[in-house]
Amino acid sequence: MKSPAYLFQKKFWLQGLLMGGLALFSMTCATSPSGRRQLTLFSQEAMRDLGQKSFEKMKQEQTLSENLEINQYVQCVTNALTAGLDPEWQNGWEVVVFQEDSANAFALPGRRIGVHTGLLEVAKTPDQLAAVISHEISHVQARHGNERMSQQMAAQLGLAVAAVSVDSETPSGRATLAALGLGTQYGVLLPFSRTHESEADQLGLHLMAQAGFDPTQSIVLWQNMSDQNNAQPPEWMSSHPSHASRINDLKTALPEALGVQIQDKESKCVPPALTG
Ligand SMILES: [Zn+2]
Repeated sequence: MKSPAYLFQKKFWLQGLLMGGLALFSMTCATSPSGRRQLTLFSQEAMRDLGQKSFEKMKQEQTLSENLEINQYVQCVTNALTAGLDPEWQNGWEVVVFQEDSANAFALPGRRIGVHTGLLEVAKTPDQLAAVISHEISHVQARHGNERMSQQMAAQLGLAVAAVSVDSETPSGRATLAALGLGTQYGVLLPFSRTHESEADQLGLHLMAQAGFDPTQSIVLWQNMSDQNNAQPPEWMSSHPSHASRINDLKTALPEALGVQIQDKESKCVPPALTG
């Protein structure tokens, strides 16, 4: 038989969780650059620290490219893109080239971008590389990492509420706090959802055009991707918008992007001579 004190405790926990959850939800809805409502439960500072620490860890654990030409090239394209951003977004970016054969790139909160050397086999020109990097910058600008972690946390909070109401023996407080302590792994921040991928595609298209790159090359990039049979799906393909639907969406958004493209600005970034 349950004591009244126990029942009170259980009720207290349930109420606390529900009210806490509701308060979080009501206070932390943001809007993405394309006007989509977002759940962002974490502060920008917390996300920045998490992203930057995760990035440092990756730099320690993985092999960095020592090819000066490649590093300069990727840096050059990144600089051209960030120079086209609004002033508050122009500084503090770090791009690192990892010696990895997969055609991949990724972004972490805190303005950190990773590019695999294998990407350059698919993104063959500065415009095509700009299509990928502008997509990654857009993930950061649109707070997709925060949103992804918030969604996971909300899901776990929901599970915790369910656990309390179903299993009376659950030490819910500790379990919930442990669940909320997630996020020390970069695995939590990636991969992004299909919604995030489409949004980053659209925002990235605008961004590359704004920086003087040719947005039509984003379509060529996807065709190259489609031709390449990669065992490991790249980050921006991980949630599977099909190549065809992705290319169609980009074609639809192209006229707007061409409208903002700075036509007479030519990229000075020189692609490295690829061997093999
Ligand atoms: Zn992506």
